[in-house]
Amino acid sequence: MRPALDRRSFLRASAVAATAVATGCAQNVTTAHAGARTTARTAPSSSDWTSLGKGLAGRLIRPGDASYDAARRLYNPSFDGIRPSAVAYCANPSDVAECLAFAKRLGIPVTSRSGGHSYAGWSTGTGLVVDVSRMNSVRATSGHAVVGAGAQLVDVYDRLAAHGVSIPAGSCPTVGVAGLTLGGGIGVVARQYGLTCDVLESLQIVTADGRVLTCDADHNPDLYWASRGGGGGNFGVAVSFTFRTHATREVTVFFLHWPWSRARKAIAAWQAWAPFAPDAMWSNLHLSQDPSLDLQIGGLYLGSRADCERRLEPLIAKIGSQPSTRYVTQTSYQKAMMIEGGCSSRTVSQCHRPGSLPGQTADGRFPRDAFSAKSHMAYRPLSAAGIGALVDQTARPGRHAVLLDALGGAVGRVRPDATAFPHRTALFSVQYYAHMAGAATWLRGSHAAMAPHFGDHAYVNYIDPALSGWRQAYYGANAGRLAKVKATYDPGRLFRFPQAV
Ligand SMILES: Cc1cc2nc3c(=O)[nH]c(=O)nc-3n(C[C@H](O)[C@H](O)[C@H](O)COP(=O)(O)OP(=O)(O)OC[C@H]3O[C@@H](n4cnc5c(N)ncnc54)[C@H](O)[C@@H]3O)c2cc1C
Repeated sequence: MRPALDRRSFLRASAVAATAVATGCAQNVTTAHAGARTTARTAPSSSDWTSLGKGLAGRLIRPGDASYDAARRLYNPSFDGIRPSAVAYCANPSDVAECLAFAKRLGIPVTSRSGGHSYAGWSTGTGLVVDVSRMNSVRATSGHAVVGAGAQLVDVYDRLAAHGVSIPAGSCPTVGVAGLTLGGGIGVVARQYGLTCDVLESLQIVTADGRVLTCDADHNPDLYWASRGGGGGNFGVAVSFTFRTHATREVTVFFLHWPWSRARKAIAAWQAWAPFAPDAMWSNLHLSQDPSLDLQIGGLYLGSRADCERRLEPLIAKIGSQPSTRYVTQTSYQKAMMIEGGCSSRTVSQCHRPGSLPGQTADGRFPRDAFSAKSHMAYRPLSAAGIGALVDQTARPGRHAVLLDALGGAVGRVRPDATAFPHRTALFSVQYYAHMAGAATWLRGSHAAMAPHFGDHAYVNYIDPALSGWRQAYYGANAGRLAKVKATYDPGRLFRFPQAV
């Protein structure tokens, strides 16, 4: 049994003592290998690698190095079988350009990596992994934050908290800001402040030709547009982001449980309430079978506990019974982010992966998690039949969960074509998340059973190697414009993986 203290696991019980278990995800590993197929003209010699390493300000790690195994591993152990030719911990944009030139010259696959949380393992491969974790500075200036592409969310929240500000971002503390932002960035204050990509004012990115481009509304605006929801790994290697910040305040975090027998009523009530609640109220509905059936509504309110309790009343009334357990607490913004990240009982330093490589800490205790997942974006509420199907799918045997995260609010006030993230009118996101043997079967079956009810939209940050029609599902009407941006900035398709734009 592996303790999995991410938000999903944390939400499983109001206490912080949830557990999850590891599994192999063999089907994903196979796909990831396929994505990193070798196209080398002649394999680089060891002197090629040595001279690349010598030319970098950062560090190049090769098979045989003591740190190689630690350097190649992603968050999800399912991809531990993938063995890159080298991992370059780039210290600056010139290192990145050097790596891209090397990969191009020698015809080897190149993959960018920030936090290493790609659901499909597409931030590793058999070629050169360009890791940006060393570029992880977080600077707050008036109303803005300049964040290195390798910063992890726990550090972004922590360092900005010292200045009384924050940005809307995701909950898993070790997710990298690059992957999150480039694919959109859904989080617990999104209904108030928008997606992470909505507060992105500019970014610096190294393109396939080695140029370091600044992209904003006035410079390379098409690449700026594509970098807000078009998905990581497609257009270049981002090295720095400038975000608009908001001032922080005390917030209220809540977790409410009902008996499973209330599941149908809770889904109906939640979906009619959560996407339309005041912007300050964000919530999710969590249905799980892990190890037994559980029903929870959790969330974060940007205001006092008393106001939060008042705002929850209509929801509770519609469900028709008081929660069987109720945890509602007012706390600092920073503490709330630690709770949402499953790190309420850890220090910031402990809320990292253990180790001495960039992005890791000596006292890090944040566990990895072997999971597989699929997603939908719900553009309309579920009918009674859809609700019944969701309850039935969750109740099937296994260890899995379905998470519905409310959207609407500020997310929905942006036009679907204003950024590459198209799902502006979606009411909530849906994740099917599974562990253990049987995960793939449950995921396939549940996703297929719910498709007639949710439609065929999906979130690129929950990237899904088995998704058919992925281009349309992730990008909708923005797919065509994204393809044009790709052709402009990466005409030779240096950056490629099975679902590259
Ligand atoms: C436990 C967990 C919790 C999550 N919670 C949330 C959440 O609350 N909200 C949400 O929206 N998403 C969430 N996600 C999904 C997450 O946003 C995506 O998996 C995201 O892609 C991870 O980014 P990363 O940098 O950590 O991953 P990586 O695996 O490093 O990268 C993901 C993709 O981006 C590319 N990439 C990485 N760095 C760069 C770069 N510098 N320039 C260009 N491309 C790059 C990679 O090549 C890869 O294709 C969660 C994922 C996990 C595993």
